[in-house]
Amino acid sequence: MFRVFVTLLVVCFLTVGHAQELPAPKGCGYDHYVHSLNRQYPGFKAAADDVFRQVQLRSPQSDEIYTIPVVVHIVWGEEKDNLPDSLIQQVLDVLNEDYRRLNADADLIRDTFLSVVGDPGIEFELAGVERVQTDTTFELNLFGGSLPDNVKTSLGGGSDAWDTEKYLNIWVCNIEGGSLLGYAYPPAGLENWPEEAAAPSPELDGVVIHSEVFRRTGTYTASGLLGLGEQTIPVRGRTVTHEVGHYLGLRHIWGDGLLSILGLPDCSADDGVEDTPNQGASSQFACDPEQNTCGDNEEGDMPDMFENFMDYSSEDCLNSFTNNQIAIMRGVLENQRNGLINDVATSIVPIDHTNDFHVYPNPTSDQLYVESTLTDLDQYQVRLVDMQGRLVKSTVFGQNGTRQEINVNGLPAGLYGLMIRQKDNQYFQKVMIR
Ligand SMILES: [Zn+2]
Repeated sequence: MFRVFVTLLVVCFLTVGHAQELPAPKGCGYDHYVHSLNRQYPGFKAAADDVFRQVQLRSPQSDEIYTIPVVVHIVWGEEKDNLPDSLIQQVLDVLNEDYRRLNADADLIRDTFLSVVGDPGIEFELAGVERVQTDTTFELNLFGGSLPDNVKTSLGGGSDAWDTEKYLNIWVCNIEGGSLLGYAYPPAGLENWPEEAAAPSPELDGVVIHSEVFRRTGTYTASGLLGLGEQTIPVRGRTVTHEVGHYLGLRHIWGDGLLSILGLPDCSADDGVEDTPNQGASSQFACDPEQNTCGDNEEGDMPDMFENFMDYSSEDCLNSFTNNQIAIMRGVLENQRNGLINDVATSIVPIDHTNDFHVYPNPTSDQLYVESTLTDLDQYQVRLVDMQGRLVKSTVFGQNGTRQEINVNGLPAGLYGLMIRQKDNQYFQKVMIR
């Protein structure tokens, strides 16, 4: 019975009104559904909050850098949505900056928050690209309560997920309706989750992003809910950062309170994160340093944190996660989503036992070439690891034809492992660098 809630838990969309005349209703699908379900099933919200608290309490086990393999599904009808590899790389770069606090704008964080922000220690590597041309449309039906999950199956006109326990699947498509920029499911299988709140089926797990915001630079013009008004926002790839935050267990910084749907501050709702300020509403795609929706004017009271990736601010202002948010995300990676960081290939085939790949020259000192005659090469990831198993180079095959060039110039001399991975299959060869 909670399926609708689960389905809409972290749907995020823009609803834009005539800001001057009306308090513009801006919010997230989450608000509507959690409160209506709570009326229908008393105690529901408490149970959901409980789950969240549980995740939060799991403490990170180490300072290890976690690497998440990412599969990007480009599902397109019009050529403009068939995004080039360069944009995919841009988004991976944004994720790798934001989740390592290497983003150039990280130092724009206001001094008030300096002590609570940190480096999540999470990296992302492109494991594969799927391109599917389709004539199906993908649409948010807010009132019918359905998300464009059909993008996630070939049956629905989209692209089938790679094993969602091992890969973060990101589907990129044109989402009809003009208000939904992206959505993600939170981790399933948490203790204390009501039994009825069955997780969506595993193959639907992952992140969906509107093709127009899947890039580092640009603008996006959103039409509002019910066609009310339009708003143009800068695009800096941060929709992806935000949705991956949901995928790793984070909630909106303002806590998704009931009144916040109406654009009013709701200070009774909390995001369950200790070190974020109590914030009653989203920052409404602005960056107002004076905004303090739940201010009590007492000493130590912090203003709203529009810099937080889990706020709705202008993407030019988003630049930070807090340490407690980071603890939640790392806790999820160590528990509910640990398949992402504990990759176990089901088969490992030595490359010289197959005719599919040719690796040369070996030994080498500057260039290493990997060649193949396979036709689905953009599903193959090439990784060079050192003898301690640390990733040295990584690329997706096939983006530059059937020959992949790896520059090994400058790497310390020694033995390395060249691995080619496609879904559950792994190919391996030792390479000597002189
Ligand atoms: Zn959101």
